[in-house]
Amino acid sequence: MKRHNFSAGPSILNREVIEKASHAVLDFDNGLSLLEISHRSKPFVDVMENARALALELLGLEGKGYKALFLQGGASTQFMMVALNLLEKRAGYLNTGTWSDKAIKEARIFDDIYEVASSKDANYTYIPKGYDIPADYDYFHCTSNNTIFGTQIKQFPDSPIPMVCDMSSDIFSRTLDFSKFDLIYAGAQKNMGPAGTTLVVVRESILGKVSRKIPSIMDYKVHIDKSSMFNTPPVFAVYVSMLTMEWLKGLGGIAAIEKENEKKAQLIYSEIDLNPLFKGFATKEDRSIMNATFTLANEDLKETFDTMVKEAGISGINGHRSVGGYRASMYNAMPLESVGVLVDVMSELERKA
Ligand SMILES: *Cc1c(COP(=O)(O)O)cnc(C)c1O
Repeated sequence: MKRHNFSAGPSILNREVIEKASHAVLDFDNGLSLLEISHRSKPFVDVMENARALALELLGLEGKGYKALFLQGGASTQFMMVALNLLEKRAGYLNTGTWSDKAIKEARIFDDIYEVASSKDANYTYIPKGYDIPADYDYFHCTSNNTIFGTQIKQFPDSPIPMVCDMSSDIFSRTLDFSKFDLIYAGAQKNMGPAGTTLVVVRESILGKVSRKIPSIMDYKVHIDKSSMFNTPPVFAVYVSMLTMEWLKGLGGIAAIEKENEKKAQLIYSEIDLNPLFKGFATKEDRSIMNATFTLANEDLKETFDTMVKEAGISGINGHRSVGGYRASMYNAMPLESVGVLVDVMSELERKA
């Protein structure tokens, strides 16, 4: 049976990328596996350099003073690392969901954090707007896409201070002026590759301004100086991320995939809006093009719907425990056809019920 993978993360990857990656596990360099060669060997150094260059190229940040790094420890390590490297006195955070909340909690270990705005009071169903970012703070932190709640920032503020953004679940999915951001981070396992590496893109000029001593492995400058090879990098995760970025570049880059992502989002949201058996979770204007969250209007239909979903080969659409209901994650590698299969099941339920 053909499967349709709506998992929130780790999540769908392009099939050709997986095939190439599995080949590299068997034979990458004249009979040697990608997994058994030195990370200092030329074939792997080339992979790392290619991956770093592709990230900047796709984001349109080449030659603009940015460096790309592939680090370990997931996006969760960035919650702490951002604060260690940038927080001197006080920072402003926008609280739009579980991941923002966790970023705030970790940064508070080091210094004072001010929540510029929060949608926690409404279980994160919307994105706060019209807040002020104090100009004398060290940096402003936001989360571009709220994976769990299915909301997404459409309009970023003009920040008077460095803007840091967790783009874990919508990196490379839509065109933005990425030079508005001074530091972008994204765990690979949502829209870029397998779990195990985190992309960090940082404007070099914002570094080196805090007075604290930073442990080497937590110091962006050290990683930049060592060309993202301070210690053994997660070779497989970096390689698959590189293949995914090559695939994306071949399609025409972010602008090309954005069109596909908009079609997918349009398809599912029009079904959610028109089908009386379903209710959208997020406020319409803030809905994510990556993660669509919705619930059944009548919970009695849950068993029937779940069975139909399963029979259609759909997997990974159960909502996060803090939201309930369903979440359809439609990352870059998901074809429009798979969203069509889910929408057909939703309308079939309406015909049956
Ligand atoms: C998944 C996710 C994280 C956590 O990523 P890890 O790599 O598991 O640490 C952080 N932020 C966002 C927006 C996410 O979607």
